[in-house]
Amino acid sequence: MVGDLDFVVSAKESTRIMESFIGQPEVESVVASGQTKSSVIVRGGMAADLRVVSDQAFPFALAYFTGSKEHNIAMRRRAIDRGLRLNEYGLFRSKEETRDVSLLEPCATEEEIFSRLELPYIPPELREDQGEFEAGEAGELPRLLEWTELRGSLHNHSNWSDGRQSLEEVVEHCQELGCDYWAVTDHSRASFQANGLDRTRLRQQIKTVDSMNRQLESEGQSFRLLTGSEVDIMSDGQLDFDDELLSELDVVVASVHQGFSQNEAQITKRFIAAAENPQVHMLGHLTGRLLLERDAYAVNQKAVIEACAQTGTWIELNASPYRFDLDWRWWRHAKKMGVRCVINCDAHRAEHAGFLRLGAGMARKGWLTARDVINTQRLSELRRSLAAKRDHD
Ligand SMILES: [Zn+2]
Ligand SMILES: [Zn+2]
Repeated sequence: MVGDLDFVVSAKESTRIMESFIGQPEVESVVASGQTKSSVIVRGGMAADLRVVSDQAFPFALAYFTGSKEHNIAMRRRAIDRGLRLNEYGLFRSKEETRDVSLLEPCATEEEIFSRLELPYIPPELREDQGEFEAGEAGELPRLLEWTELRGSLHNHSNWSDGRQSLEEVVEHCQELGCDYWAVTDHSRASFQANGLDRTRLRQQIKTVDSMNRQLESEGQSFRLLTGSEVDIMSDGQLDFDDELLSELDVVVASVHQGFSQNEAQITKRFIAAAENPQVHMLGHLTGRLLLERDAYAVNQKAVIEACAQTGTWIELNASPYRFDLDWRWWRHAKKMGVRCVINCDAHRAEHAGFLRLGAGMARKGWLTARDVINTQRLSELRRSLAAKRDHD
């Protein structure tokens, strides 16, 4: 969650920049306004600070405000070990804390700061002192996923359940965005409050999607809709649809939408049972948390990750900004266990397709690369991966 916003600008003269900042239409009140720093409250109540620094100080200020406290402490220690001093104003040839520019080790970019401290560039997402220094020294920093490497989303809704758009509108929008594919995984019948589909409507939807894909093919378009279901994992661990029906779908996401009050052992068992079903490709929003709204239900994430590793089941990184579930802190463990990630929009309306970019940001915080994320695959490769789960023994 975002605590506040910090802007850092380099300029020779700050007056007009400060005036522009505090004069923005979103600004509700000005807390402080000076030559080097201004603080405002923007609409919605969030605090935003702007600092104006010299070109010389800019990379140091940027690194300082981008790194976590833990990362910055480790960086300062590295500087001291090399007879230097690092702070938000610069890197200095000094044994004492200083801002004396005559002692400055000039660095034009963040890359140069890292390099002067004998490190490769560490992307901002990894600046947590959670192993980035060791990995950097060993030359083992990952090439992190770029959001543009994502080719579609495998968990989304349409107006057949609780989504806003028709299938035609989904196709038009996702094609225009440049996606290669988009799975429609509307709710299953137990989610009646979300207008979940029963067997008959699901089979109708499969037919509709098939005929839309044939139309796309005849027009020479490569984009495809994938059929699917976000099937409920019932309170007893059974799925809302039988295996035969699930096997007719391209993509099966299994999620918990009921029985939140069960204890950890019960909920964990339900997820493990779903992962063990060969028809289930991935588990949706594993903890069910809604940031700012609802806590996670009790689930042993480690045990579920283990079950997914054993069964070749993928875990969703739900890219809705209210979910971001799994939490980024879990992904390195999941990756180490061999579990693949799927970044899903869980889109209920057209603009939610943009969540792919947010999800990729969270995947980057979890050290994930394009190879770790299923929906970077081309459609042909994706189809093979989807089939592989069903052949997994
Ligand atoms: Zn759901
Ligand atoms: Zn959903």
